[in-house]
Amino acid sequence: MFNLIIFGPPGSGKGTQSIKIAEKYDLVHISTGDIFRKEIRGKTDIGLKVQSIIEKGELVPDDLLIEILESAMNKHINAKGFVFDGFPRTIRQADDLDQLMKKMNNDVTLVLALEVNDDEIISRLLKRAEIEGRKDDTREVIENRINIYNNQTKPLIDFYKKQDKFQAVYGVGSIDDIFNNLCKVIDKYM
Ligand code: AMP
Repeated sequence: MFNLIIFGPPGSGKGTQSIKIAEKYDLVHISTGDIFRKEIRGKTDIGLKVQSIIEKGELVPDDLLIEILESAMNKHINAKGFVFDGFPRTIRQADDLDQLMKKMNNDVTLVLALEVNDDEIISRLLKRAEIEGRKDDTREVIENRINIYNNQTKPLIDFYKKQDKFQAVYGVGSIDDIFNNLCKVIDKYM
């Protein structure tokens, strides 16, 4: 199996690139953010539980994440691999993912990071707020999400560097140029 984590701050283009990668390499795309947004739209128990957390730009509790991820993966038992988008976001989630992979006799193959600076991220997210109307794309919430990324998610860079799985690609430019650069790295690991 080829299991890829697309890593980067909010607004770095993880969603856009994950979809393209999943399509090209025939992998299953799992976006935990998309899963939560669907649960919220459906007013499910999970949706009601996470709605206010997500609107504030905070992180959903780790316990819930691994549960949701395992059930999403179990829907695709014949998958050639997965593209994880927006997961893991904490060291605890990364540990849980390693355990889950082990249980499935598998491994995280590669962590690919999109490098985008804070100013660019803020301007992209404000633009997205106008287009998509996501409730967590207001300036205040955006700043909160960036802080949380810096404090809780960035430590994963070292976590995966220690496992020799971390690679970064410059995430500013045209979608296709960035995609091609990502593919060049992926092809080395295929
Ligand atoms: P995203 O679409 O990936 O930006 O996710 C939107 C929101 O969903 C995040 O700001 C969090 O509130 C929540 N969320 C998504 N993935 C995770 C995760 N791995 N851990 C905790 N919260 C998450």
